[in-house]
Amino acid sequence: MSELTVWHNGTVWINKDDRSDAIAARDGHVVAHGSEAVTMIAEATTVIDLNGRTLAPGFGDGHAHPVFGGIETLFADVRGHDTLDDLLASVKKWADENPDAEWVRGEGYDPSLAPRGEFDARWLDAIVPDRPVVLRAMDYHTAWVNTRALEIAGITKDTPQPSDGDITLREDGTPMGTLREWGAWGMIYEKLPELDREQRIAAVAAASKAYGIGGVTWAQDAWVEPDTLDTWLEGAKAGALTFRANLAWLAEPAGRWRRTFLTFPALKERVDNECPELLTAHTIKFFADGILEGGTAAVLEAYCDCPTSHGIPNWTRDELIEAVSECVAMGFQPHIHAIGDAGVRDALDAFENAIKVHGTANNPVMAHCQLVDPDDLDRYRELGVIANFEPLWAQLENEQTVLTIPRLGQERADRQYPIATLLRGGAKVSFGSDWPVTSQIPMKGIGIAITRQTDHGVPADGWVPSEKITLDEALDAYTRGVAVQAGEEMLWGDLGIGKRADAVLFDSDIHSLPAFDVRRICVVGTWLGGVRVFG
Ligand SMILES: [Zn+2]
Repeated sequence: MSELTVWHNGTVWINKDDRSDAIAARDGHVVAHGSEAVTMIAEATTVIDLNGRTLAPGFGDGHAHPVFGGIETLFADVRGHDTLDDLLASVKKWADENPDAEWVRGEGYDPSLAPRGEFDARWLDAIVPDRPVVLRAMDYHTAWVNTRALEIAGITKDTPQPSDGDITLREDGTPMGTLREWGAWGMIYEKLPELDREQRIAAVAAASKAYGIGGVTWAQDAWVEPDTLDTWLEGAKAGALTFRANLAWLAEPAGRWRRTFLTFPALKERVDNECPELLTAHTIKFFADGILEGGTAAVLEAYCDCPTSHGIPNWTRDELIEAVSECVAMGFQPHIHAIGDAGVRDALDAFENAIKVHGTANNPVMAHCQLVDPDDLDRYRELGVIANFEPLWAQLENEQTVLTIPRLGQERADRQYPIATLLRGGAKVSFGSDWPVTSQIPMKGIGIAITRQTDHGVPADGWVPSEKITLDEALDAYTRGVAVQAGEEMLWGDLGIGKRADAVLFDSDIHSLPAFDVRRICVVGTWLGGVRVFG
């Protein structure tokens, strides 16, 4: 029997140029708008009265780590604590409640709770001396571990500094317990026990629930290794997955990619065979650099607080160019994390080279684009690079005022997140959350994109007000913009006839609210291919 759903009596935001008051979907696809949709109510299997509220296309999350987001819920709750003591108490509570856990884990602590983000192993030793503790900061680029974990990984004062990471040292030269970038904390993470099947399914179910609440129906997983793949597939087969996703395989620098790239075609085939209705896997993820708040993003001019440091590019420019070219030659889409202006330039150079060599760069994506040199702004449009922003970051929070701005200085600080400049300059822009780094809820990010104000309304006219965009532009970047990034704009990203009935219902007529209140809009229903998955 065919399923027919009609939504009526409100605003249907079809796309940024088109609206209607009703819409109908049959067997997962949009078939009618307006009065034509209303005439179908009589034969509909489901009728939804919008009651003046807005229905919009389901959101795409152009850059996220949904499995990590789900995994966070399985371990110590270290996110959102305002003081170091609260954070430590939460770790101790989980350790006490889970006496059999070999490792004490937690993901998402606030790195601004210690000066320069440097946390000491001894603070953790005081609460959990006998078992290894490993916590990762909300930036997911930094870990804080106790002495037992350092011992297990064999990290001592004699361990050489990794080329793609940093072991923070105390004044006496011993490792402090803070490890920056994968090159450093990878030594510990690789010792962690693998998740069991039940935990994997629980992680996917938690991610699905979180995305339902946000109205997200598609996501780009921006970091997948074979272990993460098992989680996706097991969760999907168990029926725990209720959004679509594209998986990006992690490209590792320093020559390691040459071996791992060879495995990607078979991994992609596994995804295509085992879960074609919900998953694709045609992207490769590169980290050009680190993060500004940790001083690891690659910058053209040295950091103000450390005049000898230009950050840590994870790749040499030449090797990045070579690996991206190989990625494109293999038919994969490159997705590069680039945050500092030197990292951004290297990424653009790599895309430009791929186009020169292969005639295309396979819909290249640059995630974050936090600090872009003015000379590079036009290159996004010229090269057809998708600029993926996490709009929730474009606000003056502690991470900016305490960590980033002192490192960058005011002139550079005021050029961060050039969303309007790129969008109105004709570049392709998509939005994402980088969840669980920051909230997976798109309306929170959209609320920042249109005001550039914190939840406290700071600053009064917005941070770099010329970079504010309109609500319609922001909705477009979080829907159609991500579909373009996915190469699937013919399938979803708007509610035009023939598109998938992936949709989100809000609790209000979203265009009737003051801009500052948009961040508080709630989702009351989410549909994937016409099937209600939330609300
Ligand atoms: Zn990310």
